[in-house]
Amino acid sequence: MAKATNKTVKGIIEEYKAVVGDEVISHLQQLSKPLRGARVVHVNSTREGGGVAEILHKLIPLKQALGINATWEVITGESRFYQCTKGFHNALQGVPQSIPDGLLRAYEETNQRNAEDLRQKLVDADVVFIHDPQPAPLLAQMPERKGRWVWRCHIDASHPYRPVWKYLKQWVTPYDASIFSLPEFAQKLPHPQYIIAPSIDPLSDKNRDLPEREIQSVCQEFGLNPEVPIVLQVSRYDRFKDPLGVIEAYKLASKLTPLQLVLAGGGASDDPEGEAVLREVRQAANGDPNIHVLLLPADAHRTINALQRTADIVMQKSIKEGFGLTVSEGMWKGKPVIGGDTGGIRLQVINHYTGFLVHTPEGAALRIRYLLHRRDVLEEIGARARRFVKENYLITRHLREYLTLMNSLLSGSQERIEVGS
Ligand code: UDP
Repeated sequence: MAKATNKTVKGIIEEYKAVVGDEVISHLQQLSKPLRGARVVHVNSTREGGGVAEILHKLIPLKQALGINATWEVITGESRFYQCTKGFHNALQGVPQSIPDGLLRAYEETNQRNAEDLRQKLVDADVVFIHDPQPAPLLAQMPERKGRWVWRCHIDASHPYRPVWKYLKQWVTPYDASIFSLPEFAQKLPHPQYIIAPSIDPLSDKNRDLPEREIQSVCQEFGLNPEVPIVLQVSRYDRFKDPLGVIEAYKLASKLTPLQLVLAGGGASDDPEGEAVLREVRQAANGDPNIHVLLLPADAHRTINALQRTADIVMQKSIKEGFGLTVSEGMWKGKPVIGGDTGGIRLQVINHYTGFLVHTPEGAALRIRYLLHRRDVLEEIGARARRFVKENYLITRHLREYLTLMNSLLSGSQERIEVGS
C-alpha cells in the first residue's frame, strides 16, 4: 500500500486539526516521537468489506504521517479457508458448530503458506498486529521473530462456543498481548489484555461532508422518495446483523406511518455466507416497493455516506456486534440510531440519549414510530449522537490508544517512558 509522502503528511495532520483541535494532534505527535521509524505491520484477511478493512485503510496512512513505518498485509486463501474462518466467527459469537478437521487443516496450511510469503516482512518488524482469527497461526510459524506480536480481536467473543475457542486458544496464547473492543470480550489468556474501541475517520469518503446535490442524486439513483421518511441499515448480509428483523420492524412500523426502508450492503471477500442471506432478505422484502435492498460495490463509500445523511433514522439491529462502525457513522451524521442491545452497540447507543437499544422487531418499530412522530426528540438525539462520537469514537482517539500501547510494548522494563514535547 502507498506510503504517505512528505508533501501529504503535513496536509493530513492539518486536516485533522481542523476537526479535533490542536491539542489532540499535539498529543499524538508527542506520543509518536519515540516510535519514529518503528516497523509496524498489521495483518488481516481482506482489503475490502467489513469494519477491520475500513479501519486499516485509515489508520495506516495516519501512522505513516506520524513517522511510523507502518504497513498492512493481507493473507489470502481458498474457499475452504474462508468456510473455516466464517465458522470461527460464528462460533466465537456463540453459535454452537463443529468445524470438520479437513477445514481446520486448510486453515493451518493456508497460514503456513502465507507465513512463507510474509516471513521477510514479519520477522524483523518491531510490532505486529494480527487481526481476528484468520491469520492467528502466523505467529507459531515465526520462531525467529524479533518484535512484539499482538492479537487484535474485533469479534464479540463474550460467550464463545467453547470447543472452537479451545482450538483457537492454542494459536492466540503465545502472543505478547491481545486487544479486545470491550472488557466483556476479554478471555482467560496468559498475557496482558488491552481494551481499545474502534473508531471512524471523519475525513474519509464515508464520513466527510457531502454537497447536497450529491445526496439528492444518490436518492434519485435508488428511486428514494424525498417526501417519505427513510430508515436505513448498512451492513454486510450476515445473520448476526438481523436484516430479517429489520424488515419485520419496518413492516410493523409502516402499518401506521408512511415509511421507506433501505438495506444497503455488499459482500466481504472473506465472507462466504453473504449470498444466502441476501436471498433470504429479498424473499422477506417480497417485492414491497418501499423496501430497497441494495447490493453495493466495496468502494461505494460516498454512496453509503449519502444514504446515511439522507436517512431519518439509522438502524443496527444486530444480535451480536463486536463494535458496529455503522453506528458511529450514522451518529456522526447527526442521526439517532436504533440498535440491538448487544456488544459494541451498547458503547455507542446510550439508551434514550444517543439512540435506542432494542431487543425485538416490535421494540424497534415502536422506537421508529416514536422518533418520526417526535421530530424535536429525533433532532435532539441526533445532535447529541454527533457530539458523543466526536468525543469518543474518532480515529484520533483510537490512534492515541494504539500509540500508547506501542510505547508501552517497546519500552520493555523501563520505569519511565519519555514521550516527545
Ligand atoms: N460497509 C460498506 N459497504 C457495505 C456494508 C458495510 O462499506 O456494503 C462498511 C460500513 O459502512 C462500515 C463497515 O463496512 O464502515 C462495517 O463495519 P461494522 O463494524 O459495522 O461491521 P462488520 O462488517 O465489521 O461486522
